[in-house]
Amino acid sequence: MIVKNLVNVQDSLIENVSLIAVSKTKPASDIQTLYDAGQRAFGENKVQELVEKYEVLPKDIEWHLIGHLQSNKVKYIAPFVHLIHGVDSFKLLKEINKEGVKCNRIIPCLLQFHIAQEETKFGFSFEEAQEMLESNEFVELQHVAIHGVMGMASFTEDENQIHEEFQTLHNYFQLIKSHFFKFNSDFKEISMGMSGDYKIAMEEGSTMVRVGSSIFGSR
Ligand SMILES: *Cc1c(COP(=O)(O)O)cnc(C)c1O
Repeated sequence: MIVKNLVNVQDSLIENVSLIAVSKTKPASDIQTLYDAGQRAFGENKVQELVEKYEVLPKDIEWHLIGHLQSNKVKYIAPFVHLIHGVDSFKLLKEINKEGVKCNRIIPCLLQFHIAQEETKFGFSFEEAQEMLESNEFVELQHVAIHGVMGMASFTEDENQIHEEFQTLHNYFQLIKSHFFKFNSDFKEISMGMSGDYKIAMEEGSTMVRVGSSIFGSR
């Protein structure tokens, strides 16, 4: 069943959009099933759960940390994480850099922006990100690589609002690209879209969708 769901989601993706299968709360055996069907990118939002699954599953899985990350937990994932989607503060980015130094990696990160109307969703405002990117302290971080942006739309039935929020994120991506990463080909990802809104996100330029329940079933 979950393989069929995976294939359905894959078939609905437009060209050059990559799929992160969000496996949070689901057993490692489900991940193995999708791995056997060819899926390699999986997303988790809790560090401990991600590490436990990393330890028992094939080593060529690309692990994406998609949720809020606490600074004191970076060290557990720094040696192997493929992409950290939820970088929402300068403090966190500095901590990731520090752990990158320790394990001699350049850790790929996305800057999370607050685009939803809900108060609870984490993320930079555009001004905060701009201030960070302009600082000398940022330029000195040699063990993180900013690969793009991430955001979550409001949980709403109002599709126009969802369109607008994703447009906002795409706009931030383009502004930041042109101001800070013009000649950096690594800065290319817009991680937006979940089960309920990834089709809208793709229409608004998403390059990476994070889909959980449409593949694994409800949590
Ligand atoms: C859980 C989660 C998803 C996937 O949500 P679904 O609605 O199950 O597809 C995507 N992104 C983040 C940040 C999440 O926490």
